[in-house]
Amino acid sequence: MNPAHLAELHGNMNLEICKKCKAKYLRDFDTDSDRSNHLTGRRCDKLECRGQLKDSIINFGEDLPEDELNKAFDHADKADVCLVLGSSLTVTPAADIPRRVAKRKKKLIIGNLQRTPLYNRATLNIHAFSDTIMQGLMERLNIPIPPWILRRRVLVTCQNDSDKHKSTITIEGRDPDNSEIPFTLFKSIQMAIGDRAKEDLTREPFVFEVSNKNVHSITVRLNFFGHYNEIPFDLYYVNVKNIPTEEQFYLFYNPLKGEWRKTNDETDLPV
Ligand SMILES: [Zn+2]
Repeated sequence: MNPAHLAELHGNMNLEICKKCKAKYLRDFDTDSDRSNHLTGRRCDKLECRGQLKDSIINFGEDLPEDELNKAFDHADKADVCLVLGSSLTVTPAADIPRRVAKRKKKLIIGNLQRTPLYNRATLNIHAFSDTIMQGLMERLNIPIPPWILRRRVLVTCQNDSDKHKSTITIEGRDPDNSEIPFTLFKSIQMAIGDRAKEDLTREPFVFEVSNKNVHSITVRLNFFGHYNEIPFDLYYVNVKNIPTEEQFYLFYNPLKGEWRKTNDETDLPV
């Protein structure tokens, strides 16, 4: 789901924000710094900034982000139905969001194993697991539940320096919903020229230099963090001249099938 449609009240474990210029960085790992100042130890990629990066997690006892909270209350003021899943509804201000919907005499449906403090205000209380509730709901709406697909966006750039007779190949991950936001996706990237391993990089930036005189094929193996047991994906180029100056594409992974699909169409999801 596009994060623009979400109000993430307690932040996002995968998102770091630059303290200075507010640039966002997504990481395919837990950015929680374990420190009270939220600094992760990493810095902004922008050379003119280099500000300290902070995790975006809001711990209990800390103030919730005002804009996200306002977004949530705006929806509470408009909603005809509010479905609460898996919340004890004991912590405010988040618990005040469904309370406001009930106050407006709109439908409040609470799905939680235990009884919540808003029990009496709810139109319906369902004491079941969230999965069971959602499966039943989708069945009644007659909407099939689509298989879950991992979405990734990759940017490959190739700069040709004819004076030095070499090409510089850079591989970056990007937020699939916003190409401006860098996304740390790769645990490591290996390059092989012909059948010989050339280089194995284990941290960003993933930048490789290849001589323009090279006539052999180039294979770039992308290794992921593997939270969904993703297998590596190989990019194959006939030779260095065959690498486009800039190519942005999507990689979609079906964890049930264990298959990647490379496409330039963001709607071309595999089933
Ligand atoms: Zn910055």
